Amino acid sequence: MLYDNWKLSNPIDDGEGYDMVSNCCGALLDETEERCLDCKEGCVAIEDYEYEAIQMEHYLEDRADDERLERLRG
Ligand SMILES: [Zn+2]
Repeated sequence: MLYDNWKLSNPIDDGEGYDMVSNCCGALLDETEERCLDCKEGCVAIEDYEYEAIQMEHYLEDRADDERLERLRG
């Protein structure tokens, strides 16, 4: 996912037109069995914007880690 897409999409204020996706892969899922259609694991169904917010958190964490490493390298 590109950061710019996330920034421009403004998903939180929208509230409509979202899909339910698996919390593991952000893929479509079998909603009756709560099974991810990507990795075939059992998963929790979440709104796609919620999944994107989680991915965004991971992205920011990774970037913070990178910045820490760069500072250590001097
Ligand atoms: Zn999955």
